[in-house]
Amino acid sequence: MADTTPILPLALAALAAGTLSSAALLSYSVFSPRCQFWASVVRGIPQRDGVALTFDDGPDPEVTPRILDILATHGVQATFFMIGRKVEKHPEVAARVHQAGHTIGNHSLDHDHFGINRSVDYWRKQVGETQRLITEATGQRPLLFRPPMGFKTRSLARAVREERLPIIGWSQRGYDTRPGTPDALVRKLLKRTSGHDIVLLHDGVDAQRRDAASATQRHTAEALPAYLEGLAAKDLRVLPLLEALLPAGGVQSQP
Ligand SMILES: [Zn+2]
Repeated sequence: MADTTPILPLALAALAAGTLSSAALLSYSVFSPRCQFWASVVRGIPQRDGVALTFDDGPDPEVTPRILDILATHGVQATFFMIGRKVEKHPEVAARVHQAGHTIGNHSLDHDHFGINRSVDYWRKQVGETQRLITEATGQRPLLFRPPMGFKTRSLARAVREERLPIIGWSQRGYDTRPGTPDALVRKLLKRTSGHDIVLLHDGVDAQRRDAASATQRHTAEALPAYLEGLAAKDLRVLPLLEALLPAGGVQSQP
């Protein structure tokens, strides 16, 4: 496979068309770590009537459990991209997310805004330590990675590829880290969300944000019930990201 081939869009298109089985994609992805699958960024799901919800920068001891309760009430599953240092601080919250059946992804150890300048060794530690912390807290090795701020560099991609993790981006976001009311957030999200979307929201506050000391993501939790009801009214199904990407074969955990 040529290193310049954009495999992932082709693979997703093939999955959507039913011409590539999820087992084949999984085998390919596990056994061909040099392929660009691992350096591409997943920015959507194949299902036309489905969306996948993701929550970044937690776990947060106040907001994450509130979001879990709302997701449980609506019977939907989401993916939480967690910061390693926060998992170290709140392992019980990470464990609760896992026990509720949601997927936990790796969102780096420190969420450093200047990480784009760093070496492969730096990223090996950022990815590897977070894999270890999440596995210790939940018993499940993460299978997905999302870079801080979504920035992908060659060094980061190499370290992530060595851990056999696909890089997950997003196609839609509510900008819920900015000040605003829950109502405005719901309106903005519902206007923008359509099928195939991976939606970026936040359950935690990135410690390097300028307003980190005073900010919370409470308004995201407050907006969530109306957002979920609005998605249902638009006939959009909320799908678990992993299953949406690999619909038939599932994904085996590796200790
Ligand atoms: Zn983040």
